[in-house]
Amino acid sequence: MDLHKALKSLFENRMPSDEDLLRIIDMDDPQLELELAAKADQIRQANYGKKVYLRGLIEVSNVCQNDCYYCGIRASNSNVSRYSLKPEQIMECCEVGYNLGLRTFVLQGGENFLYSDEILVKLIMEIKAKYQDAAITLSLGQRSRESYAKLKRAGADRYLLREECASKELYSKLHPSSMSFDDRLICIRDLKELGFQTGMGFMVCPPYQTTKDLVEDIKLMLEIKPEMIGIGPFVPHHETPFGKEKAGSVDKTVRLISILRLLFPKALIPATTSLVTLSKAGRYKGLKAGANVIMPNLSPVQLRSKYELYDGKVSTGIEAAEIIDNIIREVEEAGYVVSLERGDAL
Ligand code: SAH
Repeated sequence: MDLHKALKSLFENRMPSDEDLLRIIDMDDPQLELELAAKADQIRQANYGKKVYLRGLIEVSNVCQNDCYYCGIRASNSNVSRYSLKPEQIMECCEVGYNLGLRTFVLQGGENFLYSDEILVKLIMEIKAKYQDAAITLSLGQRSRESYAKLKRAGADRYLLREECASKELYSKLHPSSMSFDDRLICIRDLKELGFQTGMGFMVCPPYQTTKDLVEDIKLMLEIKPEMIGIGPFVPHHETPFGKEKAGSVDKTVRLISILRLLFPKALIPATTSLVTLSKAGRYKGLKAGANVIMPNLSPVQLRSKYELYDGKVSTGIEAAEIIDNIIREVEEAGYVVSLERGDAL
């Protein structure tokens, strides 16, 4: 009964109490889960119709100075063969993506300063000059406000910087003491203030996470109002301290996608690679639950397996064209249509 009441307030666009959110996130009731997803889908369609936006993901570098306990490319993993794409190589990835119709390029990478402000500014300006109708999303970790400002001025449109976990206590269990949640939050606020369409997000079920921690994340997002929200299940990587931990729950991730869609009707929410890694039906389930973005991989085929954030990450040897064809088919099978527009936040 309580669960019904909790869902009612969420469906009526009222913020449920913390206890009610906990109940919804943890519910184990297939019938109600379908209702939750259907309601989220209805809200998504009211705002974005049946469109699914594509973002061409370019994994620019797996060099990282950070040592997040969950991540396969963490600095202390000496078994990673490190690479950083040169600007020319990044331009080539954009060209492939542009010719396939993509109008957003996401430059994601480990946190390192091989990409100085100067190099990035030049690269962003070059991409923007050549592909004027395309958007640039950066996902390069924490940088100074001055650096973000330069990247924005050069023409970058969006920035993804997941908070990872809003609970400081949990943050300190997932990261070494050299990393601080407060610093990360300052970066997120800077990005927002500088006018980036800003993405936040978290993993579902990393070690030590409680559902209460997830409620903290949702509340932080309600305060900051990100335009994009990326969440995915934790997936262990064998060469990290969490290598033997259990993978996150697909169903819980899907419920959270729906909850986030209902609380953020206009957000751009991807069905993420980690969701697809844990479940063949992950993309379908994510879309049906309110997700409206997919990020096909444009990284050079021969380097893709080196950007291994977690075990089993889908890094097929197939070319971007084929990946996109497959995505178009899957999206249509789920009852939606791929849109090749830039797909800015409403
Ligand atoms: N260096 C950038 C990009 C990080 S990679 C940054 O700091 O923002 C993108 C996302 O992958 C991370 O934000 C993290 O949430 C996710 N990720 C990393 N390791 C993971 C794992 N083992 N399982 C699931 N997701 C993971």
